[in-house]
Formats: sequence, C-alpha cells, structure tokens
Amino acid sequence: MHHAKTDIRSLSLEKLKVLFANKNELAFRGKQVFEWLWKKSATSFDEMTNLPLSTREWLGQDFIINHIKVEDKQISSDKTIKSSFRLHDGFLVEGVLIPSDERMTACVSSQVGCSLTCKFCATGKMERERNLNADEIYDQVVHIRNWAMKHYNSPLSNIVYMGMGEPLLNYNNVLESIEKITSPQGLGMSNERITVSTAGIAKMIKKLADDEVRFRLAISLHAANDEKRNAIMPINETNNLDALIESLQYFHAKTKNRITFEYIAFKGFNDGIEDAKELMNLCKLANAKVNIIEYNPTGDDFFEKADTHKVNAFANYLVKNKVHATVRRSRGKDIDAACGQLANKKHSEALM
Ligand code: SAH
Repeated sequence: MHHAKTDIRSLSLEKLKVLFANKNELAFRGKQVFEWLWKKSATSFDEMTNLPLSTREWLGQDFIINHIKVEDKQISSDKTIKSSFRLHDGFLVEGVLIPSDERMTACVSSQVGCSLTCKFCATGKMERERNLNADEIYDQVVHIRNWAMKHYNSPLSNIVYMGMGEPLLNYNNVLESIEKITSPQGLGMSNERITVSTAGIAKMIKKLADDEVRFRLAISLHAANDEKRNAIMPINETNNLDALIESLQYFHAKTKNRITFEYIAFKGFNDGIEDAKELMNLCKLANAKVNIIEYNPTGDDFFEKADTHKVNAFANYLVKNKVHATVRRSRGKDIDAACGQLANKKHSEALM
C-alpha cells in the first residue's frame, strides 16, 4: 500500500533521535537533522551534507519537507514588504516585514482565515479554513528574515503574531513555532522580542500563564465596556471584560510579562474622554499599557478613523493618569499590508 509521506518537521528532536536509534544509526544524527530543519532551514535532504548518502536516501523515501512558497511580494512606498505565501495544500496566508528606524519586525499569520468575525477586520470576513502548522509559521519568519537582510541589510529584531488568524485558537502550534524560533537549535531569537496578539480568549490566556511563557502578550481590546465591545467583537459575548481582566491578572501574577492593550480609535464610537476613562480603569486593573492604533479601512463604510485631535486628547488623558500610552501610525497601507487588511484577494483560487 502506498503511504503519504510524513512531514519530517512534525517530529520533535526527541522523536528524531528515536527514529535514528530504531534504524541503528547514531542518535546524534537526529540532532543534525533537527538543526538542518530548524536552524539552517534546509528545503531538501540533499542539502544535509554531513549525513551519509544512504541516510539521506531513506529519509527522502519516508519523509518530505513541506515548504511554504512565496506567491507574490509587494514593497510599499514606506518600505513595508508584504507577501502571500502558498501552503502545500494550496491555501494562501500573508506575512509582512515592517522596517522602522529602530526595529525590523515580522508580522506572521497563525491560521488560514479566522473564526472570530471582528467587524472591522478584513480577515474576519474570511472563513477559518485551518490552523497553520508550527513549520508553516516558522517558514514565514525565515522568509521575512531573509528579506530584512536582502533589502535592508538588517537582522530581524521582532516578531508579532498579528497576521491572519487568532493565535490562541491554534495554541499548540503557535507555542511550538515560538519554541523553534527561540531555541538555540533553531533561530535563537529572544522571547522578549516576540509578541502574541489575541482577541482575548480568557481560558487560553490562563493556559499561557500556567505554561509560564516568556513572550509578550497583546490584547486587541478596542472597546472598554461590554456593550461597545460586543458590538464590534463577537468573542466578547463569551469572553466578557470581567473574564478577560481576571485572566490578565492571573497572567501577570504568574509571568510578570508585559501586557499591551491594542485600541483602534473609531470616530465617534470609542474616541471620547469617557471612553479613555473606562480604558484607564481597565489598564490599572490589568497592569497594561496602551497602543492606540489608527483604523485602516477594509472596504466597509461602517467605521471611520478617529480625528487626530481626538486621538491626541485621548492619549493625553491616559498619560496624565499615569497609563503608558503610545499612538501607532499605520504602515504599508498602499499595499493592503496594514493591520486588519490581510485577506487574500486571490483566496478563492486556492480552493479551485
Ligand atoms: N487575532 C489576533 C491577531 C490578528 S489582528 C488579534 O485579534 O489580536 C492584529 C491586530 O490588528 C489586532 O489588534 C486587530 O484588532 C487589529 N486590526 C484588525 N483590523 C484592523 C483595522 N481595520 N485597522 C486597524 N487595526 C486592525
């Protein structure tokens, strides 16, 4: 019978060692292969030149290395680079490189589509098709890291899980990808430079705390009371602000990690001083700082971005009340690479 070959990157280091032991080969071959896969990003067994030819042959007979492929790549006038990546089964996801004076940030996707239907988000209008595997997330980082060197001659400094999908609904694979990215046998990047952004799944935030993760956490808050949040983020109906704040207090107590609230300022909806006051109270409860984000239109006229003077007054109110707050400008708008704009215009092709 013909078996589909296993993706070798689904095997842990331990499993690789066992694989070689079972073949009566040296166990350290397992570590060599692991490093080829996760440190040197090998795309074929032929590249693994420190393995005997016979070993490379049986590996190639039993296993494949699935890789994501760059489908197309656009460079914004502000130097932001966005790409669609084609997955082995035809789906597309997007990843972005965001260069700034002090940082080179990779923004990666964690799911094909998203199940959360946030009203302001382009990805939310797509179906959630499937979770990404750890290697598919890792591959995005490797590609984007290469662009940082090639185009801007700078090493990648930060990674944000703010592309398509809800990372905490793909918990195991996201954590595994971070393990590969931070491990000395992998890319060796620092946990403090990685931010996972979530729409706020309370149970999973507690799980992060119990798992004592060391990366940073960002919460897409966008509204500071339940009524407003329910109106724009359906997830709030099952994970209301009380539950969310309680999970964040638990997270902070266990990990001491920094928490950031992301807050899109929508004109006339959540940009008033009374909103800032409610937000300030939540920040004090959760020990969080605030990133105020500009709204990027997603072809939906319901929302508009807040006026600059309103945003400034909002931020000033927070700062005056001793909440750390920054206003973030959007990047890559001309190529639809900005927050909330990641959706595949070519998506339907993938299903045909
Ligand atoms: N699901 C995760 C990660 C993806 S979204 C999350 O919700 O956090 C990454 C960030 O972009 C989130 O803060 C999200 O709320 C924000 N975002 C979504 N649509 C946006 C838009 N149209 N304009 C600005 N930011 C948007």
